[in-house]
This record gives sequence, structure tokens and C-alpha cells, in this order.
Amino acid sequence: MICLTRLMTLLFLFSSLVFNAQEYDILIKNGRLIDVKNGIDKVSDLAIKEGKIAEVAKSISEKKAKKIIDAKGLLVSPGLIDIHSHNFHGTEHNAYLSNSFTALPPDGFSFRSGVTTLVDCGGAGWRNFRQFKENVIDQSKTRVLSFLNIVGSGMKGGAIEQNIADMDSKLTAIVAKQFPNEIVGVKLAHYSGFDWTPTERAAEAGRLADKPVVIDFGGSQPELSLETLFMEKLRPGDIFTHAYAHVNGRTPIVNENGKVEEFAWAAQKRGIIFDVGHGGGSFLFEQAVPAMKQGFIPNTISTDLHTGSMNGGMKDIVNIMSKFLNMDMPVADIIAATTWNSAKAIKREELGHLSKGAVADVTILNIREGDFGFIDTKGKRMDGNKKLECELTIRDGKVVYDLNGLAAVPWDE
Ligand SMILES: [Zn+2]
Repeated sequence: MICLTRLMTLLFLFSSLVFNAQEYDILIKNGRLIDVKNGIDKVSDLAIKEGKIAEVAKSISEKKAKKIIDAKGLLVSPGLIDIHSHNFHGTEHNAYLSNSFTALPPDGFSFRSGVTTLVDCGGAGWRNFRQFKENVIDQSKTRVLSFLNIVGSGMKGGAIEQNIADMDSKLTAIVAKQFPNEIVGVKLAHYSGFDWTPTERAAEAGRLADKPVVIDFGGSQPELSLETLFMEKLRPGDIFTHAYAHVNGRTPIVNENGKVEEFAWAAQKRGIIFDVGHGGGSFLFEQAVPAMKQGFIPNTISTDLHTGSMNGGMKDIVNIMSKFLNMDMPVADIIAATTWNSAKAIKREELGHLSKGAVADVTILNIREGDFGFIDTKGKRMDGNKKLECELTIRDGKVVYDLNGLAAVPWDE
């Protein structure tokens, strides 16, 4: 008799564990879930457990989760990936974007705009990458990756970035291979001589490290040919940033007749990645609007974040996404250009999607309607009636930013 009672108690305990256990940490319900890699764009529920995506389904029971987030009317996206940012923050004077005040500490500027992965674009070179890793990458909750500058000393501005003698393909590739978890490619920027050597050194480092190269091109008088860069110097998969810029010493992709250059179409077809890299001087509506009207859309949308751009027309990645939304780029394409396309561009295909088992980096966005103004880097305004806003950000399964308390309980409950 005693044995039977104990058996029944055990059975009761077992069944209550099985049927009432809250197996998920977070359940996001009723949002429009956009996961480009998996071809999903529909209202779905998403469950998270132990930092991983546990389940995506039309409906998941609330009983199964400890925390419920109602995302009705909102977009649910993989955590945003910004492939052109400047985050080698430090206190060195006159160091431009390498261990400097103008490069921003990651966590203060990432989560509040839905970004879970930031790629510093050339702040560090092979000489100071360890300093960047120890002081910034290892201290950040944001996933911080790096395009290593072909200049050994990194992006310190002025003469340092013109020094071809400090552009060492072999040493750059060695350090890139030493830190495969953090370094995703090689950067060349700001070189203003009439000379292909820096481009060739960066491309060679990319070949040796088997990683993509990102180029911020132009500045020389006479100009180096943009067509030669696209069709001969870069490989498919290499990245051309500042796609919609019109700066001295670089041919714009939209010509004086308002047409996208034939070689730009050919380059994108060839596999060159066109990245926005908005920044403080590299995004003009007079380039972007006609390009978008002709269907020349960016592969990736990135910020070129630093103190100058964030206080100018750029602001943050959702503001740039809003510009493209108001230029009639479909929402799913905008999400692709900030998640899955970005992950592929940096060859980190474990990121940028919501597959079961993937890291639970998730961004919830709101599309607001009203009267808004957007500013380009010439100070020109474009009016719009839609604006994206970051509602909530989850990094590694934890809520790290929550604008309106979607994940919080009422104070008087
Ligand atoms: Zn930059």
C-alpha cells in the first residue's frame, strides 16, 4: 500500500514536471517574423532557451515560457549586423578612429538601435589589434568583429594612412589568421595617391587570409578607375563601401545623366558587395534616390558609425533603414541587407538568421507612421512618412534593450 502511494506521488510529480514545465526562457508572440535565410516572412511565434533559438512556429503556448513578449504589430528580425562601424574607442589624442575618442564604445550605441554585431572597419591594424581586442572586444556585450586595416598602425589618419611601407600583406594575413573568431577581413581606406599598390596589398592580404576585403576608395587626382577596381582588382565577395557617395577623387555610381554606370551593374552581378557605409560624408540622396529608382539596391546597409556621423544625418542604423524604407525598398530586403546578407558578406553564416539552434540575437522593430525628415551628408533633407524604431533587443538570449517595457511586468502587479 505504501509503495503504491509513493508510486502515485512520483507519477504526479513527473507529470507536473512534464506538462507544466516552462521549457522556454522567452517567448515572442504575434510578431511579423522576417528570417530571410529561411524564407520566412509571416506572423509567427519565436521561443528562446539558454541563449539559443528553440522553436519558431505559427503558435507556441504561453504556458511553456517564463517570459512572454507580445510583438503584435511589430517586426521580429535576427539581431542586426552593422558591417561598417568604428568602435576602437580609447583615449589616444589625434588618433582619428584607432584607439580614439571619435570611435565609439560598442555597448553604448549598439543595442539601442537593434544591433547585436558590430564590425569595426579598419580601426586596428596588425600592430594594435591586440590592444583593440583586450580593451574593447573582450569588454563588450555586443559581438564585436574587425576588418583589419592594411596599414599596420590602423586608422590613425593623416600621413600614417598614406604610408605604403606600413602596408604589409603578409603580417596582416598572419594576424587575421591568428584571430579567426574576431577578424573577418581586411580594410583599405583613405589612401589618396595615384597608385594601385595599397589596393593590391589589401587584396593580397585578403587572398593570403582567405577573407574578404573592404575598400573605401578615392581621393587621388587624377582618379583611379572605379571600373578597374571593380572588374580587375577586387574579387567576387569583396566589399565596396560608401556606395552612394560622391566625393573628390572618386567616380560616383550614378553619372551626370542620372544613370547608374553600366560597370556598377556589371560589378554587382560579378559579386562585388555594395555597402552603404553612410558615415559623415558618404551618403547623398542625389545618388541613392535615382539608384534605388533604377533598382540598384545595396547588398548591405551599414552605418560607418563614429561621433561625427551619429550626430549628423546618419544617426544610427535604423535611421538609415528608414531612409531606404521611404525610398520604397521592401521591408524584407532592408532586413536582408542588415542581417543575412551582412552575415554572408563577412562569412559568418552562423549569424543573421533565426534557425533552431542559432544564437538568440533578436531585434524587434516598430514601423511608425507620421511626418519625418531624413538628412544626407550634404545636409539635404528627404521627407518621409515611415520610420523604423528599435523596440527591443535580445543578445545571446537576454533582453539588453527594451524601449517601452515590452518584456517588463507592470510596476503595481
Ligand atoms: Zn569608416
